Amino acid sequence: MNNKLYGNLIFELSKPGRRSYSLPNSGMGSYQLPETMRRACDAQLPECDEMTVVRHYTNHSANNFGVNNGFYPLGSCTMKYNPVINEETAAMPGFAQLHPLQPAETCQGALEVYYNLQQSLAALTGLSEFTLNPFAGAHGELTGLMIIRAYHQSRGDDKRVKVIVPDSAHGTNPASAAVCGLEVVEVKSTADGIVDVDNLRSLLDDSVAAMMMTNPNTLGLFEREIPEIAKLVHECGGLMYYDGANLNPMLGACRPGDMGFDVMHINLHKTFSTPHGGGGPGSGPVGVREDLRPFLPVPRVVKDGDNYRIETEGKGISVGEFLGNFAVAVRAYTYILSLGKENIKMVGPLATLNANYIKDSLKDVYELPIDGLCKHEFVFNGLKDKSTGVTTMDVAKRLLDYGYHAPTIYFPLLFHEALMIEPTENESRDTIDGFIEVMRKIAEEAKNDPDLVKSAPHNTPIGRVDDVLAAKSPVLTWKQMNK
Ligand SMILES: *Cc1c(COP(=O)(O)O)cnc(C)c1O
Repeated sequence: MNNKLYGNLIFELSKPGRRSYSLPNSGMGSYQLPETMRRACDAQLPECDEMTVVRHYTNHSANNFGVNNGFYPLGSCTMKYNPVINEETAAMPGFAQLHPLQPAETCQGALEVYYNLQQSLAALTGLSEFTLNPFAGAHGELTGLMIIRAYHQSRGDDKRVKVIVPDSAHGTNPASAAVCGLEVVEVKSTADGIVDVDNLRSLLDDSVAAMMMTNPNTLGLFEREIPEIAKLVHECGGLMYYDGANLNPMLGACRPGDMGFDVMHINLHKTFSTPHGGGGPGSGPVGVREDLRPFLPVPRVVKDGDNYRIETEGKGISVGEFLGNFAVAVRAYTYILSLGKENIKMVGPLATLNANYIKDSLKDVYELPIDGLCKHEFVFNGLKDKSTGVTTMDVAKRLLDYGYHAPTIYFPLLFHEALMIEPTENESRDTIDGFIEVMRKIAEEAKNDPDLVKSAPHNTPIGRVDDVLAAKSPVLTWKQMNK
């Protein structure tokens, strides 16, 4: 793109008197607004011709990078597979033009989709019932914890104020517990990167409301001790919460409900294929075991004979006035149906295969702090050769030059140079081999020409930005100069 011609800001392209339109004379004469209703001076709007405006915005949009532009190996909060057919179903007028206050008898088809998705999620996870109301993963966590608190309180057990969270947990776990008014207690990881059961034992008492776990955890490792952990937490009267934001590797392989979890959330916008970015749109359904069903939030969709209705009476938990992000639910249900019962079982193994293939192809040049089989993702601790001074940030920036989105960096916090890679199940062998080749090339460059990597990116519209300055003195508005 030629920045000189099309400009960085539409204001910089403005020329006094330029217009994108001309109106015919209406012959109606003119009318003067009363003085009190008039501006003191003209609005400072850019003045441009039509093609300048169109090209300016079109060229800017082309600077964006998404899963439809190239490989996007971001770990944990991954944008996973976003099949185009989902967009077609979500855009069907009967779904897209629903009104949230529409009477249930006029939208039975939509409620059936909603109900069937609840049922499908229950079947996939081994839990009893789901609510689709929460708008994000973190919102689901909060909802789940509210359910857990309501359950304890319903038994007159008011002293349960602690939530145990592993040190490898996603940041939203402790945040949700705190927002729910509960106390966060951290449990350590072993050198193998999984929950340290001995440390957990020392934290358990009758003030524990719940234990939150992510499995596979944020290192991409399967938490082998779950049966023992669930037994210990249940023995002390706490409930087990499963963070199922990234459920891909589990699909069709095993179910949280069978492992002893009582409450969980899923991110439909990760595992079940809804494009999301900049914070939305999302959906974080929450599932519970049989005896916790009464504590699910309202409104919820229930089936009466052949009809569906919206239940509004409950035990007082509400996390939103309506039924959540319906278009995300339509996409998730489309995804589940288009894979079908048999093929959905391939998601986990393929995601796991792809991640392990990348890990094993690169571990001679990138430091792998915890070796062994990973699930859908894994974490390197930067380049193996630390003598070059090339950091994880530099590698991430250099990847942009080669047309890849960067992996997740500096998370989880367990290693200084964390580089978290998740390929997702739908990527081809060629794409993955291409990525491996580039990662190896960057490792070579780090050795032979470290400054090239440290000053990357070189081929993007904007070079390396000053993170600190951008965070401390962000320039968010355009100030008119020279006028
Ligand atoms: C993404 C993610 C969350 C939070 O989900 P949001 O929709 O961003 O609120 C929670 N836990 C894990 C493990 C995640 O990857």
